[in-house]
Formats: sequence, structure tokens, C-alpha cells
Amino acid sequence: MPTEELQHSRTTAPETTAGDDPLLRLQEASEPDDSIRFRTTTHADPITITGITVMCAKCSACRDWLVICDRRNQIFLRCRCAHEWHEPELSRADFEAMVGEGGQKYPSLDAVVRDAGYDGTLAGTYLPDDLDAGTCG
Ligand SMILES: [Zn+2]
Repeated sequence: MPTEELQHSRTTAPETTAGDDPLLRLQEASEPDDSIRFRTTTHADPITITGITVMCAKCSACRDWLVICDRRNQIFLRCRCAHEWHEPELSRADFEAMVGEGGQKYPSLDAVVRDAGYDGTLAGTYLPDDLDAGTCG
């Protein structure tokens, strides 16, 4: 009965095409167990890293930041011109410290970008506070 065995093995060949998309699997693996992917806070003051004041490469802003902490505890900075970048020198501890200084915590990145005015509509406008506007340390 060799032919019968051959047919049998053919029909039970594992179906690897469906449901085996590596991209899909990656998406499922990175699916958050809670709804919060990012935590963000606003930071009106300049941020200094190892003695150097952080400045936006696009609009030269040096304060009035949106600080974003993602699920991997990576810190991103975003300025009013909507330029956003990863800042590897900052850690989650720095983020928590900025929240502790009176920053407001937001549950969603989209919400804060829109509601706090970091979508680019306020590019170049810096909210008045007790700092000398335009000085960059
Ligand atoms: Zn900018």
C-alpha cells in the first residue's frame, strides 16, 4: 500500500500559509495589555542634558516641550513645530521627575498632541511664562 500512504501524507501536510504571517504575529506580540501605549507630559522649562540645553533642530526651540515616554521607557521630545525625536539621554526617571514638577500626565499621545497644541499649529509661538523669551541658556 505505498501509494495510499503517500496520498495520506500529502493531505495532512501542515498549512503554513494562513495565519503564519510574521508581521501579524509581531503585531499580536506587541499588543499592549493595557490601553496606554504612551505617557506624556508637558515641560515649559528648558531641558538640560549633560550641561547642554536641548534645542529643536528644525525651529530652534529650547523650551516648551512635550515629553513622551513610550512602553519601552524611551523618551521622545516634541516641540511646537511638531518635530519629534528620540532623546536617548533621557530616561524614564527623568520623565517622572518632569511629571513631578507639575507636568500633566496624558493617557494618549494623539489627545495631548491635539489638545496641548503640539500638532504644529502653534509652531513658533511660545506661551508666556516667567522666563525671558528667546534665551537659550
Ligand atoms: Zn521645533
